[in-house]
Amino acid sequence: MKKAKGKLIIFSAPSGSGKSTLINHMMSVSDKFEFSISATSRAPRGTEQNGKEYYFLTPDEFRTKIANNEFLEWEEVYPNKFYGTLRSEVERINNAGKVAVFDVDVKGGVNIKRFYKKHALSVFIKPPSIQELKRRLVGRGTDSAEVIKSRIKKASMELTYAKRFDRIVVNDDLETAKKEILQVVSEFLK
Ligand code: ADP
Ligand code: 5GP
Repeated sequence: MKKAKGKLIIFSAPSGSGKSTLINHMMSVSDKFEFSISATSRAPRGTEQNGKEYYFLTPDEFRTKIANNEFLEWEEVYPNKFYGTLRSEVERINNAGKVAVFDVDVKGGVNIKRFYKKHALSVFIKPPSIQELKRRLVGRGTDSAEVIKSRIKKASMELTYAKRFDRIVVNDDLETAKKEILQVVSEFLK
């Protein structure tokens, strides 16, 4: 595994915590960040496009990339739904001299932090409660009732990972959380 020259910022959270909302806000205030586009075997949802939010692969394509050692890390985040960080993404971002931004599950977040150590900041985004998480997933309107159920089922386990992250940001009031993210990130990049 090749170490990154630059700095990296890792975000993890139970699905529906507001991680994408906060990452998008952070990225909109500076061009020094570059999003690490993961590969996934799940189907695109809403307005998602291949090569923008994710590289959407078939399960067979995903397995071939695992066999070819193309992933820095990968996880079966939900049954039969694979997600992984491509080594080529991290290289692309390093070569561009940008700060890599990762949106990964809690296990991936802990693994990437363990590998990059002080070069990486790991941030856990915490929802105010499981009920609010459910409300946000339903309100987002992009997932079926079955998918929402599987995400909520996983949330309690994911919350136990919070203490393994460098920083925890509670996303209750969105404006407060946006400010807090900018603050912890700018402290790290100083
Ligand atoms: P994630 O990326 O963690 O799955 P999203 O960023 O997609 O979560 O947010 C889930 C839903 O909750 C979205 O509809 C988003 O607009 C909404 N949301 C995000 N943050 C807040 C907040 N602080 N208060 C209320 N709703 C929020
Ligand atoms: P979603 O389907 O909501 O986009 O993502 C589901 C979960 O998979 C989220 O927790 C997200 O952070 C995680 N995820 C996305 N990309 C990766 C990745 O490359 N590696 C790992 N380990 N998890 C990922």
